[in-house]
Amino acid sequence: MHGSDGTLLVEGGASPGHLASFVAELERQGRPPIVAIALTHWHWDHSFGSSALDVPVVAHELTARELAVQASYDWSDEALEERVRDGRELAFCADMIRVELPDRRNLRIVVPSELLRDRRAIDLGGIEAVAEHVGGDHAADSCVVHVPTDGTLFLGDCLYQRLHTPEPLLTVGGVRALVERIRRFDAGHAIEGHADRVDDRHGHRARLDELEQAADLVERHGRAALAAAGGDAELTELVGFLLVGEYGDVAA
Ligand SMILES: [Zn+2]
Repeated sequence: MHGSDGTLLVEGGASPGHLASFVAELERQGRPPIVAIALTHWHWDHSFGSSALDVPVVAHELTARELAVQASYDWSDEALEERVRDGRELAFCADMIRVELPDRRNLRIVVPSELLRDRRAIDLGGIEAVAEHVGGDHAADSCVVHVPTDGTLFLGDCLYQRLHTPEPLLTVGGVRALVERIRRFDAGHAIEGHADRVDDRHGHRARLDELEQAADLVERHGRAALAAAGGDAELTELVGFLLVGEYGDVAA
């Protein structure tokens, strides 16, 4: 988003090439200069492109800590495979990293320098963007970026399931706390990290309602919640993630 003086990027992209192509499009559109990148969490597909720009990277202190670990790694194929074997990297992510970053000899992972614990405001001239820590199951460092003046909310991946586990999972407590927190932003537009759409107020509320409905089903029906979800594919998927989080598997 941008104000009169500056543009803030939410996320640093999956690779320097990815970020550079996005920046080229912003330049084509005549946007004000990019003054900072705000990361919603540490995952590679949101952060590994930051080095394409020489601007401050704003992030939660846990995001910086994890990216310092990532920056210390050897990114050769062999070392990446080793981390898949010992559980530090997901096989799916390793495959995607090889596609997005085929040559990683000069990969430079930027460790964020402008850190926040709870929230941090970024002035863009006439509008302010606020990065705020919300946590949740997907990643403990998850932040959202909120533009209070127009009610836009960048959710990153915070509503998604946790992936760095043997099976993807959500927890009832995690979903309830996060949904309550996100509702308080009363967003008029919401953008999720991997959705190809911008949700309006109605669509955003429906998304939060569905997460709560899945949590309700698991609390009420326990392991029988899958059957209680009926035929709704998205609700069934959410219930499945919650069953893994609560019981360790989805089996009834
Ligand atoms: Zn993520």
